[in-house]
Amino acid sequence: MMPGGVYVLRMGHRAGRDKRVTTHVALASMALGASGVILSGDEDPGLMESVTKARDRWAPGFLLEYSKGWREPVERAREAGLAIVHLTMYGVELEFLLEGLRALARSRGLLVLVGAGKVPREVYSAADLNVAVTHLPHSEVAALAVLLHELLGFRGQRGSPGPVLPQLRGKLALPRGARPPVPGSPGSSS
Ligand code: SAM
Repeated sequence: MMPGGVYVLRMGHRAGRDKRVTTHVALASMALGASGVILSGDEDPGLMESVTKARDRWAPGFLLEYSKGWREPVERAREAGLAIVHLTMYGVELEFLLEGLRALARSRGLLVLVGAGKVPREVYSAADLNVAVTHLPHSEVAALAVLLHELLGFRGQRGSPGPVLPQLRGKLALPRGARPPVPGSPGSSS
């Protein structure tokens, strides 16, 4: 984890029931401008393999790691100077913390913690900031998407469409393995 980046720590993954949601935590982080995801909890080689495939195809610079426990990556982030932000309905509303969070993201970087099942009480005090996206219980994917979008805006979203050829109507993509044309290069139409 590097200072100045926004990283996501998915805590407490349960291989039997969280595969889809944990995958979505990773994909949403990738799409909305996070610098990487650390998956913790049950070891789940199938999950790591499918998320690694998506990373290699869509966001090659994105950090992807597994750590059995949540404490070690939190310690590492602290040593690297990142602020620890825990998304929880019991925290303080994002609205009131947003300016400070943006400044922290720029100056130090953030490690954003999201839970799966019951989150250990210790996490609430290990975090520098407990942040709520409303005080209703909902989804880690929704909370994370709101936070990342509010922090990084549209600039955070992976700008290059990659193999996608954006269409207002219809659907077009380059075949797997084909590179998008570089504007101005021989053979490109612009
Ligand atoms: N039942 C769990 C507990 O008591 O800790 C929470 C499980 S919830 C489905 C999974 C995760 O979604 C939470 O750990 C939290 O990170 C996130 N989350 C859910 N509602 C949230 C909210 N209103 N604000 C911020 N994060 C939220």
